Amino acid sequence: MTHDIGPKSVAAFQRASKLMPGGVNSPARAFGAVGGTPLFIDHAEGPYLFDIDGRRYLDYIGSWGPMILGHANGEVIDAIVRAASRGTSYGAPTEAESMLAEQIIDAVPSIEKVRLVNSGTEATMSAIRVARGATGRNKIIKFSGNYHGHVDSLLVAAGSAAATLGVPDSPGVTPGAGGDTIVLAYNDPQGVVEAFQKYAGQIAAVILEPVVGNMGCVPGTIEFLTCLREQTTADGAVLIFDEVMTGFRLAFGGAQERFGITPDMTTLGKIVGGGMPLGAYGGRADIMNQVIPAGKIFQAGTLSGNPVAVAAGSTTLRILKEKPPYEYLEKMGQRLADGLDRAATAAGIPHTMGHVGSMVTLFFNPDPVHCWADADRCDREAFGRYFWGLIGEGVYMPCSQFESLFFSSTHTEANIDQTIAAAEKVLKKIA
Ligand code: PMP
Repeated sequence: MTHDIGPKSVAAFQRASKLMPGGVNSPARAFGAVGGTPLFIDHAEGPYLFDIDGRRYLDYIGSWGPMILGHANGEVIDAIVRAASRGTSYGAPTEAESMLAEQIIDAVPSIEKVRLVNSGTEATMSAIRVARGATGRNKIIKFSGNYHGHVDSLLVAAGSAAATLGVPDSPGVTPGAGGDTIVLAYNDPQGVVEAFQKYAGQIAAVILEPVVGNMGCVPGTIEFLTCLREQTTADGAVLIFDEVMTGFRLAFGGAQERFGITPDMTTLGKIVGGGMPLGAYGGRADIMNQVIPAGKIFQAGTLSGNPVAVAAGSTTLRILKEKPPYEYLEKMGQRLADGLDRAATAAGIPHTMGHVGSMVTLFFNPDPVHCWADADRCDREAFGRYFWGLIGEGVYMPCSQFESLFFSSTHTEANIDQTIAAAEKVLKKIA
């Protein structure tokens, strides 16, 4: 299949490849798993991305999660412009930071106190340090195929681009940095029980995506999440929900609100920054009060609580609270998942769906996907043909089998139906 990429994107990628590793500033953008040249983006509006060749695409990555209100939302852009015109960084506290902190604490059940940082990676890195400092323990449990940013201790059996590009364990992570990380299979309560028996009193934290987006969309079962809550409580370990993807997406209060299971700490990113670089971590007050300068666990940031990022995040959360899109996203997610499922069935393509709310994955795998071992059996080559077929139809899906798609409140029912029709055409062609 020839890859339908405009000449300007091709030239831009050649230039970028001489300047930046792989031509990009983050690996998931490089189309590495599907081969070929990434689209270079000129601008975006609502559900659409426009590339520098003037082509329009219906966007299903939404900047990999943040753009739940669609691109260039007028109120968010106004707030950014207003904030920027008052100065872009002070290195001193603002009232706007307290406003965003109140919005986060109000929304997320587990968060009594919060700290703002600059990315999801910073949020998980800091949460792990705080959990270790607060418990005086070293070991952490993570689950294979879950991705928590490029933190050394968490870049072990990682999902997302690390899985896509075949480096779940990156060179450069020392045995020391990864040595206290215990990797277990997702959705396997028995493995968790056994780990807590083996390492009783030594585990500082269990960190997980309560619904995984980073091996494709794989929901945690209630049995699994309940087991984690019980085991961590009994052992005195800190349960951390990494809601960088799911926070403010699967419900206003994230997966923890949706499932009714409250962790001790939560990490946030993406939507909380409204498309600007902002993350957050928070949790029980007795834990968060140990963070410096209230306590002794060190964590800091020159640009943390940046006024422009805070304005974008705060405005996004206000809109999500005032006009919750969640019922609509739920309905459209079901429509899209059902439509893709029907299209794959009609084409005779072995597949299974992963779907929660506005996170959806069509797995090229005949069997259900509950963990990384299941996801790893997907037909990557078929996925690549599906991806490029959809690009040809003006639909921009995540460029890896191991990433969930996201859509926004600006994706209309007609957009969703148009996507299903495009998928029907493409799947028939590649079958
Ligand atoms: N945690 C999860 C669940 C994520 O999906 C990501 C990024 N995709 C991160 C952490 C890291 O966030 P960032 O890329 O902002 O550092």
